[in-house]
Amino acid sequence: MIGCDCMVCKSADPKDKRLRSSILVQSAETSLVVDTTPDFRYQMLRINNRKLDAVLYTHPHKDHLAGLDDIRAYNYFTKKPMDIYANTLTEEALRRDYYYAFSDTRYPGVPEVNLINIADQPFLVGDIPVLPVEVLHYKMPVLGFRFGDFTYITDANKIEDSEKEKIRGSKILVLNSLRKEPHLSHFTLQEAVDLATELDIPAVYFTHISHQLGQHHSINAELPTHMQLAYDGLKLVV
Ligand SMILES: [Zn+2]
Ligand SMILES: [Zn+2]
Repeated sequence: MIGCDCMVCKSADPKDKRLRSSILVQSAETSLVVDTTPDFRYQMLRINNRKLDAVLYTHPHKDHLAGLDDIRAYNYFTKKPMDIYANTLTEEALRRDYYYAFSDTRYPGVPEVNLINIADQPFLVGDIPVLPVEVLHYKMPVLGFRFGDFTYITDANKIEDSEKEKIRGSKILVLNSLRKEPHLSHFTLQEAVDLATELDIPAVYFTHISHQLGQHHSINAELPTHMQLAYDGLKLVV
């Protein structure tokens, strides 16, 4: 956090250096990201990611949208618009905040997008199967995504039983956990641990972590062995 002198913000451990939450999902043929954060450009530069076929959006909060302009680098490579998948709530925000990308008279250099509206039905991005999972971020519906045996859920603090069933059976779950203290719209660490335990997921990683949660090594030491804090650059193979 800008201007903060806490243990996490002053830590020299690279695992305490957290950019905004997003993941890159890759198969042999297809690459997609979930959300374009304000850090999207640097996140792509940092791993020298040359290929991106699609963006899946979870919800319209700016920490999950703000990097959209920088998909234009991929427009230059592919000479075609980027497929972006969003529910109606997020679509409305995208059309409002990025009006210049949806205008009939677009000036050169704006991101070129092909918006695909999604709800709760499964779909394919290239060869990657996607099952949307609707979770609640206080009152806002947010999409999590299950890709085969891997599920990614961010910005949730409540999940209805019928949606929990869509997560059950995953081999790996990435789940948001903001801090230990209660929060209006994010799971606490204990709530996230309890949900992962209830769903009996064999490998669990927590994401969307606030500096208020504490240092990576000390929080990890408190967790059950099959649960860990995620960190920037973590790679998982399913
Ligand atoms: Zn949010
Ligand atoms: Zn967020």
